[in-house]
Formats: sequence, C-alpha cells, structure tokens
Amino acid sequence: MTETDIRGDFPIFSQDPALVYLDNAATTQRPEIVLKAMDTFYRKGNANIHRGVYDLSARATDHYERARHTIAGFIGARSGENIGFTSGTTESVNIIARSFLAGRLSEGDNVVVNIAEHHANFIPWQQVCLETGAELRVASIDETGALNMTEFANLIDERTRMIAVAHISNTLGTIHPIDEIIALAHAVNAPVFIDAAQSAALYPLDVEKRHIDFLAFSGHKIFGPFGTGILYVSDKYRDQVGPYSVGGGMIRDVGRNATVFQSFPGNLEAGTANIAGVIGMEAAVVYLQGLDRNMLREKADAIAVEVRKGLSGIPGLHLIGQASNISSIISFDLEGVHPHDAATFLNAEGIAVRAGMHCTQPLLDSLGLAGTVRASFTIYNTVEEGEKLVEAVKKLHNFWA
Ligand code: PMP
Repeated sequence: MTETDIRGDFPIFSQDPALVYLDNAATTQRPEIVLKAMDTFYRKGNANIHRGVYDLSARATDHYERARHTIAGFIGARSGENIGFTSGTTESVNIIARSFLAGRLSEGDNVVVNIAEHHANFIPWQQVCLETGAELRVASIDETGALNMTEFANLIDERTRMIAVAHISNTLGTIHPIDEIIALAHAVNAPVFIDAAQSAALYPLDVEKRHIDFLAFSGHKIFGPFGTGILYVSDKYRDQVGPYSVGGGMIRDVGRNATVFQSFPGNLEAGTANIAGVIGMEAAVVYLQGLDRNMLREKADAIAVEVRKGLSGIPGLHLIGQASNISSIISFDLEGVHPHDAATFLNAEGIAVRAGMHCTQPLLDSLGLAGTVRASFTIYNTVEEGEKLVEAVKKLHNFWA
C-alpha cells in the first residue's frame, strides 16, 4: 500500500491537502471507515444495548459485544471476557488503582513506576500510595532517555504490589523493555500494568504470550473516536477487579441493603455505554488489521530517523530522548526559544506539532526543562513532511539566532 492510498483513507487530508499533521502522539486522525461505522450506527442501528428484546437493540448489543472479541483478537487476549470498555487510558489506570490495588496496599508495600510516565500512569498510583501509606518508587532514566534497568530491578522486591510502565514514552519516544520488566515483576509475583497508549496502533501487544496482567489504550490514538478505550485484565486477576463506578447495567441483583455485581468486564460498565464510540473503535481496529502494520511502523520510524539526523545538525537544538530503542516520537528543545514560540512558528509554516510538558512534569522537572517541542509520525506521514519540518526548524533557528 502506498502513502497516497493511506492518506486517501483520511478525509481530513482531502479537505486540507497541505496539512502537515505531526501531533499523532496527542491524537490521530480518523479514517473514513471509522466515521462511517459510527454514522451508520446512528442512522440505521441506533438503540440502547443489553436491556432490549427487540431486534434493533439485539443487533446493537451483538455489535457492541463483537467489538470486545475483535479487540481481544487484536491484542492477543484469550477472549472478549478479558476486555473492559472505558473512556480511555486514564480511566483504565484509575480503575485498577482504585478497584484493584487500593484495597491491597498498606504501609511497607510499594508500587514501582518511572520518572518518564504520563501523568495518567503516575498520579493514580501516587494517590493510592499517599492514601494507604505505601511507597511510590520512581525509577530514573539515563542520559539517552532509556530506563536505568539495574536501578529499576533493585526497586522491585517482595513488597511490590504493582509495577506500572508505558510501553512507549509519549515524551521521549523510548520503547521500554516490557518483557524484561514483566519477568522481574513475576519473579516476586507482582502484577504489571502496561500503558499501551502510544504503542497499540502500530506494535503487536500479544498480551497472553507476554503474560501481561493489565493493559490499557485509548481509541483516539489508534485512529478511533475520542472517549473510548480499553482495559485488559488477564484471567489471573479477572475476578479481583471490583466495581469502579456503580449504577445501572453492571449488577446481578440489587437489594435494599446490598448489591451483587457482575464480574469483569460487566462490573466496569455502569450506565449507558458509549456504544457508537465502541463501534467506531472496533472499526479502527478492523482498519489496522487490514494494513501491514509492521511495514507502516518501519516507514514512520525511518522518517523519524531522518528527521532526528536533520534536526541534530541545527546549532543549539537538543534532541530529548535518544535511546537506542526508540519510536517515531521526537522531542526537542531549541536554546533561547520557548517551545510554545517554536510551535507557533511551525504552525505559521503549516506544521502541527505539540509544545509543552506533554503531561510528564516529573520528567521535565528532572531534566530542568519547561517543555519540549514534540513531533510524532504515523502511518499517513511522508518523507516530504519530515523534510519540511527540518527545513522549518532551520528557518526558525535562523530567524531567532
Ligand atoms: N499514557 C500515555 C503514554 C499517553 O500518551 C496518554 C495520552 N497522551 C495517556 C496515557 C492518556 O490517554 P488518554 O488521555 O486518552 O486517557
């Protein structure tokens, strides 16, 4: 499949052919197939699920439940029973922090994270530790942005109750050695939570094969709709994830004085679900399954390699994150130019990038930076767009120097 074919799948690029969209780590664009799936649902299949006996409701229920199985297949889970639908990665982390971990933590226990985590995979663990007296252990990174694995391993012990790590850092682009981390965790019988927000679109997750305990991603970063996401829970922990938000649609029996809840994933999905969103997220997964994801990931990575080369020749420009195992996310800092000014300049050149802390303040504080400029490449980006970015940053440097 050529670049033109892929770009042609995304209506935003025919509407605005000049758009150089390099903010894919924040959210991806949506292909026609996703928009159409949601539009068709609302036009032809709209009904609430689970409670209706009429055909329209039964069809909506089937579609919603089929999505669970499609997504299970996509991430290599045993079954749709392991997939809960959430509003996104943030909610998925909160669910596990609150309804699984909090009740198991006490003084003397610890939770292991690292300094580069997104706030979504940092604050929920920090808060349950503060509330229970457990210790939040924060591993550091080396000068390239890779985890200090010797230190990381030393932080894990018999009192470790959770290890939470992103598959890919959204600020540094580092690909974390999750298989090694899972082996370290399981040696002390601690579960691992993988934040796959940045990897789910283009990396095989293989949750069963890799013995992942918990995993989350957001639909909007895999070409699906906003307000959708998943929480994967392995069979080992499935009956230990309690309810989170409570109300209709997630119960077995409600008495005047007590309620019996469904088991996971039913016990998570209180209230009317984001049915069209789940259907859109399923369409995004089906879209990805029809592509050669390895080839497209390699292509995006190759563009990023060239961009890093081009950027590193610019005086005063520092690449933040140069680990040997790195994805197509590039962060940089240009001496004397505030990241927001840089992004504003690039916007004037027709290039959409993100500037700021990228929800990783502990990381930025540790690096002594107020922010970075971040460009992130994905399946529809082109070599020319990469070149355009480098040229525009050179112009920015000349303008400011
Ligand atoms: N983790 C990582 C690594 C992310 O990049 C993001 C989104 N920037 C999140 C978690 C949070 O995702 P969401 O805002 O979709 O819940």
